[in-house]
Amino acid sequence: MRQVDMQIGAERRPGNATFESIDPYTGEPWAIVPEASQADVNDAVAAARAAFEGDWGAMTGTARGRLLRRLAELITESADDLALAETRDNGKLLREMGGQLRGLPAWYEYYAGLADKIDGRVVDTGRGDFFGYVSREAVGVVASILPWNSPLLLLTFKLAPALAAGCTMVAKPSEQAPVSILLLAELFEKAGFPPGVFNTVSGASRQVGEWLVSHPGVDHVSFTGSEATGSAVAKAAAGHLAPATLELGGKSANIVFPDADLAAAANGLVAGIFAAAGQTCIAGSRGLIHEDVYDEILERVADRAARIVMGDPKKPETEMGPICFPGQLQKIEKFVTEARDSGARIVTGGDDRGLGGLFFAPTIIADVTNDATVCQEEIFGPVLSMLRFSDEQEAAALANDSRYGLAAGIWTKDIQRVFRLTKKLRVGTVWVNAYRTLNFAMPFGGVKASGFGRENGSEGLDEYLRDKAVWIETTGNTRDPFVLG
Ligand code: NAD
Repeated sequence: MRQVDMQIGAERRPGNATFESIDPYTGEPWAIVPEASQADVNDAVAAARAAFEGDWGAMTGTARGRLLRRLAELITESADDLALAETRDNGKLLREMGGQLRGLPAWYEYYAGLADKIDGRVVDTGRGDFFGYVSREAVGVVASILPWNSPLLLLTFKLAPALAAGCTMVAKPSEQAPVSILLLAELFEKAGFPPGVFNTVSGASRQVGEWLVSHPGVDHVSFTGSEATGSAVAKAAAGHLAPATLELGGKSANIVFPDADLAAAANGLVAGIFAAAGQTCIAGSRGLIHEDVYDEILERVADRAARIVMGDPKKPETEMGPICFPGQLQKIEKFVTEARDSGARIVTGGDDRGLGGLFFAPTIIADVTNDATVCQEEIFGPVLSMLRFSDEQEAAALANDSRYGLAAGIWTKDIQRVFRLTKKLRVGTVWVNAYRTLNFAMPFGGVKASGFGRENGSEGLDEYLRDKAVWIETTGNTRDPFVLG
C-alpha cells in the first residue's frame, strides 16, 4: 500500500486519521490517504496566507515564471508515477494518462510566459490634475475543489494561472481519486517554491471541502464538479463574499448533418462519449443525427462501440477501463434500466459484457426523445442517446433544450451553416468537425447550469486577478475636496 501525505506549508502531514483509495480495476485498496481535520484545513489556509503575504507575494512575475518552468520539468520527470497513481485511483487508461502527462507541463510553461506580462493600464481621468492607473493584483488565497475524473488536468487548469497571477492555493482532491494531487504537491519544494504556495487537504468526508470553501481566509473558490455540489459551494463561498469559478456538468450534443464526412463524424461520436468511459464533463452524450443519415451513423457508431476493448486500464490494448467507483456504476445502471423500461431501444451495451467488477459496456440508446431522462440528466458514463432531427433549426432547438451548456460538436462541410449554428448554440465550446480537443490557450467553461467563469487562456488568468484603481494628485497644491461643486 502506498502512503501519501498532505502538504501544509513546509510540513508533510499524514493526518490524525486516514482512509483508503480503492483501485476500481482490482477492487482492492492501493493507497492510504490522510483524513484532514478542521485544524488541518485552518493550518493550510494560514500557510497559504503567510506565503501570499511573505516570500511568494514579494516575488516578481519573472521569478514566478521561472519556478513554473521548473515545476513543468519536474512533472515531466515524475510523469510515469503521476500517471499510474491516477490510473489506480480512478481507472483512467494509463495510455491516456501518458498522453495527458506529456501535455500537462505545457500548461505551466504557457502561464510561466504570462506571469511577467500582467500589465495594468493608464487611464485618462478626464482631469489634468490627476494621474490615474489600474494595476492588476493577485486575488490571494485560492481554494480549489476537484472531481475524480481527471484530477491532475483539472487542477492544472486552476493552479497554473493562479500561480502565474501570484496567488497561493489550498487544493482539496476528490475522495475517490486523491493520490495524484497529493503527489504533485511533493514537487513544489524540489522546484524551489517557498512553503505554503501550494497546500493540500484530503478526506473521505465531504466536510473537508465544506470547511475549506467556507473558510473566511479564502479569497476565491475554484470548483470543478457536479451541478448540485457547485451550487452548495457557491453559496458557502458567498457566505464570506468570496467569488467562485464553477466548472460543472454537461449534456453536450454532437450534431451530424448529411453533408458531413460520416466516418469522421462516427469517430467523433465514439470518442466524444466512450473516451474515459464517458466520465468527462464534455462527454458528447447526445447524438443529434439528421434523419437522412441517422441509420448509417447509428450502425457505424454501434459497430465500433461493440468492438471497444474493455479491460485492465494499465494495458496498452485496452480502450475503455472500469467505472471509477460502485456508486457511479449504480447510477449509470439505473439510468439505462429506466430508459429500457420506458421503451427506449438499447442498440448495444447496457451490461458489463460479462466482465463483472466495475465494468459497463459502451451503450447506445436509440429511439428516445429529448425530454427523456437520459437526454436531460448527466449520466457521466459510457451512454450515448441518439436523436433524429430534420433541419438545422430543429437541431439547434434540440441542442439548446438542456439546462446545461458546456460544449457541442457540429459535423458538416457547409461553412455558412457552421457560422449560423455556432452563433445559436448556448454553450462554452463548439467543436466543428472535431470533438474533445483542449489546449492551454483556449478558454474553457460553460453557460447555464454548466457553470460560470473561464479556465485556460488569458481568460483563465483573469479569474485570479483583481483590478486596483489608483488616483494620484499631480499638482502638489493644497486641495480641499470637501468643497464640492
Ligand atoms: P462532486 O460534485 O460530487 O464532487 C466534487 C468535489 O466537491 C469533490 O472533491 C467533493 O469532495 C467536493 N464536495 C462535495 N460536497 C462538498 C461541499 N458541500 N463543499 C465543498 N466541497 C464539496 O463531483 P464529482 O462526482 O467528483 O465529479 C463529477 C462531476 O464533475 C460531473 O458532474 C462532471 O460533469 C463534473 N466535471 C466538470 C468539469 C468541467 O470542467 N466543467 C470537469 C470534470 C468534471
